[in-house]
Amino acid sequence: MQPLQLGRMTVHKIHEMDSPVPLLSQLPGTTAADLARLMGWYEQPDEIFPDPETCLMTFSVHSWVIELDGRRILIDTCCGNHKSRGLPEVNQLDTDYLENLRAAGFEPGDIDLVMCTHLHFDHVGWNTRLDNGKWVPTFPKARYVFSRRDFDYFREGPPGEELHNEAFLDSIVPVMEAGQGEIVEEDTVVHREIGDGIWLEPAAGHSPGCCTVNAQAGGAPGIFWGDVIHHPVQLIRHDLPFAFDADAPLASKVRKATMERVADTDTICFPAHFRRSSAGYVKRDGDAFRYEFLHG
Ligand SMILES: [Zn+2]
Repeated sequence: MQPLQLGRMTVHKIHEMDSPVPLLSQLPGTTAADLARLMGWYEQPDEIFPDPETCLMTFSVHSWVIELDGRRILIDTCCGNHKSRGLPEVNQLDTDYLENLRAAGFEPGDIDLVMCTHLHFDHVGWNTRLDNGKWVPTFPKARYVFSRRDFDYFREGPPGEELHNEAFLDSIVPVMEAGQGEIVEEDTVVHREIGDGIWLEPAAGHSPGCCTVNAQAGGAPGIFWGDVIHHPVQLIRHDLPFAFDADAPLASKVRKATMERVADTDTICFPAHFRRSSAGYVKRDGDAFRYEFLHG
């Protein structure tokens, strides 16, 4: 995706990987009617098939970099390389993420601030890299902000959250030990000018301290909604429980409220797992919503 200009902000997408899994394993309850409606959005639906039993859900895993007033802010840091994970698809990855970051014009030392929308393994992985057998912060000059509720929750190593507990140990703890981490409330403002800025907003449900990152700087607003919504079919069926939501009814409520807020406005959305350009607009569509991707 070409960088997007929103007023004084420039937004870059940094791709890590695409990960296809059976749709029903993530969004049980998706129907053929939902998929028929979804396929109507695309000229080439590629990975979306009409039968829910064979339809795939391909997660794009990527970060966003905001350049604003001379600062470089990295939002969500994907899965990371060389990490031992109990899920084969993401175990011991060796991706070109840092090359992709460089291709967008950034060295790790250029990043001033890292923001994780929540502390799941696919949003914190590049916080650290392996250096002589030790996990060290990938972005040596950056401050990292983590939401208090997720930090407190995963610090305890809760049962049933093994993947994220592993990530906490190799991707959060070393950042805190290096003195680069900061635990913040879920409505923290990180950059503020008169009338605009970058700030967190609570969006709990998918995880206990899940946030969205909101950004505006003399142009259209942007919302980096993390995992409030994982797949476009959830705009049609916001009630569908996602298999890995910590609190599915709350996540569904937050999903609907987020879409209500941005629908038919000039807010550009930056989802964490949509494919193609990922970025786009939410539009009302009868009893549901529709997503209009930027650049097709
Ligand atoms: Zn995610």
